[in-house]
Amino acid sequence: MILLLFGPPGCGKGTQARLITDLLHIPAISTGDLLRAEITSGTPLGLKAQAIMTAGGLVSDDLVNAMLVNRLKRHDCREGFLLDGYPRTLEQALFLDRVLAQRGGGEPMIIHMDVPASVILPRITSRRQCPKCNRIYNVLHQPPKSAGVCDVDGVELATRKDDRQDVVRDRLRAYEQLTGPAIAHYTGKRMYHRIDGTQRPDRVFAAIQQVLRPAFVG
Ligand code: AMP
Repeated sequence: MILLLFGPPGCGKGTQARLITDLLHIPAISTGDLLRAEITSGTPLGLKAQAIMTAGGLVSDDLVNAMLVNRLKRHDCREGFLLDGYPRTLEQALFLDRVLAQRGGGEPMIIHMDVPASVILPRITSRRQCPKCNRIYNVLHQPPKSAGVCDVDGVELATRKDDRQDVVRDRLRAYEQLTGPAIAHYTGKRMYHRIDGTQRPDRVFAAIQQVLRPAFVG
């Protein structure tokens, strides 16, 4: 079972990815989280990615594709996986087609969380992330139990540098211009499902479960 989760930055993909993986027991792979880990470790890839990410641009297809292939080699991906934030360009989508064809196991299921840009800005600027486990909170709609610290780790929550308003605008532009064609690659396929992502997180998850049930559950 291979799932691709699409949606603009700040639409709640990370939250839904976590809920889906708890349900299906497959790993959620966020290329954004992988890149942030590379930056934290100071690797050559992290050094290349840092400035691009801080400016709200996209890291080059070659680098991200290679990073993804490496991650998919790990044992936990054997039974399937969920991709959050990949593919982000048509080139990445075509590359993923080839990778999946080589692996066998059928077509991926695509869940597209649709949220207009006007809803994204206020949401994303109130977003906080645990630097240790990457769990996402929202100080307005989904606050941690104890203000400012992660429920799981007790670590102080952080605002991502690229969640600043001006950078978010650039990220939304990149989503429209570069990720739009990747989504168009899947639209109309049997396994493509569009979900209204403006609803409360539990409603979004209920809608996703409805889509998943016939394919994976029971
Ligand atoms: P995210 O955490 O998914 O919002 O990603 C944060 C940033 O990481 C993006 O704004 C990009 O700079 C970079 N990034 C994440 N995934 C990709 C990808 N598939 N292709 C290119 N850049 C990516």
